[in-house]
Amino acid sequence: MIRRKILAGNWKMNKLNVDVAPFFKQLKESLEKLQPTKSGFNSIAENGPEVLFALPFPLLVGGMQAASFYGYTVAAQNFHWADAGAFTGEVSAAMLKEIGVTSTLIGHSERRQFFGETDQTVAKKVKQAITQKFSPIVCVGETLEEREKGLTHQVIERQIKSVFQDLGDFSTKELASLVIAYEPVWAIGTGKASTAEDAQDVHGFIRKQASTLRGEAFAQSLRILYGGSASPKNIVELFTKPDIDGALVGGASLVADDFAKMIAAAFEA
Ligand code: PEP
Repeated sequence: MIRRKILAGNWKMNKLNVDVAPFFKQLKESLEKLQPTKSGFNSIAENGPEVLFALPFPLLVGGMQAASFYGYTVAAQNFHWADAGAFTGEVSAAMLKEIGVTSTLIGHSERRQFFGETDQTVAKKVKQAITQKFSPIVCVGETLEEREKGLTHQVIERQIKSVFQDLGDFSTKELASLVIAYEPVWAIGTGKASTAEDAQDVHGFIRKQASTLRGEAFAQSLRILYGGSASPKNIVELFTKPDIDGALVGGASLVADDFAKMIAAAFEA
């Protein structure tokens, strides 16, 4: 089965609204230098990857306008599982929908590490995302300590089970927008990416888990992204692996020239 690739940038808590237009102008110029055709790098093209940017909330509206030049879109980095209520500092799915955003990261390791997100809160958010017809990119990944203890598969199995735990009432079709990002915590922002072989091992394992939980047809259509120091240097090799369906990119997505090279790699993969 051919799965359309996704290249997702995660700006984390970086840049300001004033940086948005210049970034996307530079991105477009870099892309045009890489392939100066009219349809080049158009995300609507059949063979093209989906390209999206997970932006801080205040940058979403400006980002949406600036990113649309080739059909690229924006996503939130987080949202709350409740429809509305007394949740000071949080943002709901309805608020995002109102401004035209229907995609979000869920359970990024920085949310788990610094903001108390757990497998349980991730499960609630995934359920809300599917209920609200959002496209969630749900992050899983082991810490260095867990990897060194040989617990990688065990940790991933627990996290993947929790992603699907509250989705029993949804059909496979309703889950089509769900994307998993495998992000080994030790590789995020460290410059030490997983080898393509190690990443493939975990991606294959995730697909097997998905098959056990939701059936083989669903598993074959599920897109699994790699994240953790992905860059123009390692992206081509990562994309040679059969179960790597794209990348979630932090640092390199802040540099228009680098991200343009990664978009080009996704087109050629
Ligand atoms: C991320 O933030 O999801 C990430 C993978 O960061 P980086 O690419 O900088 O490691």
